[in-house]
Amino acid sequence: MNSPSEIDKYTRTALFRKKLDGKAVRCELCPHNCIIHQEKTGICKVRINHQGELFTTTYGNPCSLSIDPIEKKPLFHFLPGIDIFSMATAGCNFRCLNCQNYRISQTTPDQIQHYDLTPENAVQQALLNNTKSIAFTYTEPTVFYEYMLETAKIAHQKGIKIVIVSNGYINKEPLLELSKYIDAANIDLKCFDDKIYRQLTGGSLQPVLDTLITLKERKVWLEITNLLIPEYSESKEKIEKLCKWLMENGFEETPLHFSRFFPTYKLTSISPTTASTLIAAKEIAENSGLKYVYIGNLPGLHGENTICPHCKKMLIERRAYEIMKNIISDGLCGFCGELIAGIWQ
Ligand code: SF4
Repeated sequence: MNSPSEIDKYTRTALFRKKLDGKAVRCELCPHNCIIHQEKTGICKVRINHQGELFTTTYGNPCSLSIDPIEKKPLFHFLPGIDIFSMATAGCNFRCLNCQNYRISQTTPDQIQHYDLTPENAVQQALLNNTKSIAFTYTEPTVFYEYMLETAKIAHQKGIKIVIVSNGYINKEPLLELSKYIDAANIDLKCFDDKIYRQLTGGSLQPVLDTLITLKERKVWLEITNLLIPEYSESKEKIEKLCKWLMENGFEETPLHFSRFFPTYKLTSISPTTASTLIAAKEIAENSGLKYVYIGNLPGLHGENTICPHCKKMLIERRAYEIMKNIISDGLCGFCGELIAGIWQ
């Protein structure tokens, strides 16, 4: 790994920017649309205006590289059981009070150790590790957009699948370009309340909903995660609103993962989500018509198994990130033949 300060060589001109009067630049990558003055950075701290031009500082310098089961993303209806080459750079456009990865998300590439990895070499690493897929994950991939896009283009040429795990806070134009090269996405829908969204993340709700719709329209395989944080996002009313919106907008077959909160970062005084809250959320979602609803981060509850929405029999048994049994065949329920939404092979 390289030392924290060796960062200049990774700097690249940023995409999606507009020059303004007085050498200011507007970054149009995410809905913050930061107006950035000379030698200043945007909210994400990894896009900088240098002499009137906008640069990204996250190109080719990932701070995290790992191989994960795809179930960890979580993606439960996309090639179950595969390993995925996972990568991230420093930075994020959110400031989540509960960030589990704040040590890498709330910093900049020049402040932490990083690898020197071109997009070509990232793809090579995935292949050398016998993984036929790459995930941009751990931090927010939007803030390393140029690096992600180039890596995804090269990977796709070699038949490698591309996954993003994202907060969904990205403008439509960059998302449309990126979606040409994405096969699957897990989007964090943090809470169905704009005021709480702003308080919890520093972002807002509507752009995330817009991203869900765009990805669906672009036929990217989509799963959604909703972390239930006591005092913030776990109320029955918010869960009902979220499910209602999903149903009204055609997400009936999109897997929804309710995830258990554990105290972390700036929310250490809040208790973990109770099992009863997670079970109640699952019931609300299923009663509203969503077909595939999961409970994550709570072992022993069996909330991670895939159940046929028609005959109600178990099709995929999961323990943590391991597949114990899978009787989906050609995308159909092994018992009743119901079509199970997903990308299975
Ligand atoms: S990507 Fe960064 S600089 Fe660009 S608008 Fe978003 S927060 Fe601001």
